[in-house]
Amino acid sequence: MKSDDITLQDIFLARSRIGSIAQHTPLIPSQKLASLTGTSVYLKLELLQPTGSFKLRGAANKIFSLAPEEKARGVVTVSTGNHGRAVAHVATHAEVTAMVCISERVPANKVAALQQTGAEVIISGKSQDEAEQQAYRLIVERGLTMIHPFDDPHIIAGQGTIGLELLLDLPQIDTALVPLSGGGLISGIALALKTANPAIQVIGVSMEQGCVMYHSLQAGKPVQLPEADTLADSLNGGIGLDNHYTYRMVNELVDDVVLVSEEHIAAAMALIANDHYMIVEGAGAVPVAALLSGQIVSPGKHIAIILSGGNVDTRTALRIFEEHGG
Ligand SMILES: *Cc1c(COP(=O)(O)O)cnc(C)c1O
Repeated sequence: MKSDDITLQDIFLARSRIGSIAQHTPLIPSQKLASLTGTSVYLKLELLQPTGSFKLRGAANKIFSLAPEEKARGVVTVSTGNHGRAVAHVATHAEVTAMVCISERVPANKVAALQQTGAEVIISGKSQDEAEQQAYRLIVERGLTMIHPFDDPHIIAGQGTIGLELLLDLPQIDTALVPLSGGGLISGIALALKTANPAIQVIGVSMEQGCVMYHSLQAGKPVQLPEADTLADSLNGGIGLDNHYTYRMVNELVDDVVLVSEEHIAAAMALIANDHYMIVEGAGAVPVAALLSGQIVSPGKHIAIILSGGNVDTRTALRIFEEHGG
């Protein structure tokens, strides 16, 4: 890897920066998934982070690393919800002004949650990409700093702190199943785990319709796709045609990418509710869906699953639990 790349040291630096705001989340065994798969399965509870997802880690690492003059001008971001919430939360904590640009597709519960954080929410366009163009206009006009949802070394290193916690809490780990969209989460985790031991399998999981990273890897370069309606709405969005970090890192570090159906995502959400008494959002449930779908062919002996977030609208969750006996 090139010298301008993100290193394990960056991830340790992130860990020391974000400790005041992000939790070292619990890792719990899943008896149910162990009996279904015949192997040890552990759940990393990122849905317990204060803003309901792991996005707090990257946002905190980035915002706490800004120069004083950048903090004074304020920050802006684009988000399907969880990243925007995390940025707003950290910015409030650090007394930095935050603007959040989102598309019309973002669910109402996430818009309301964002507005409650004190951030200025700007709704513009039909896709994440259109909302991003609005953010870049604000950067030019007002000198704001972009807090990118995934394609930024500080964001990747922040999400990578999950990898350090996995190594501390489950030193025998041989497989990690990680939700995948823009790839900040899996790039950071894979960097930590593969640096510790390149034999640890790191597998990305996404929804069947609209996984841009999967199709980009197939095409050999970043591509664009239309967004689809999915229970895993936090996994929607492009990777950027001029992607700088995550496309290359996923290409180099990730062993496989698996796509799961809406049916399996719903069944996975119901399983987590039934057996673990927790509500996980669709994006967070995709690794469980991958196990249920039988697509993880050689699962290893000690699998860690990242339950990446819990921000699901109550009506959607109740409908799924009714249909799937949750
Ligand atoms: C953002 C997000 C992901 C995907 O993270 P990337 O870094 O974009 O791959 C997965 N799960 C949840 C809950 C998220 O908010």
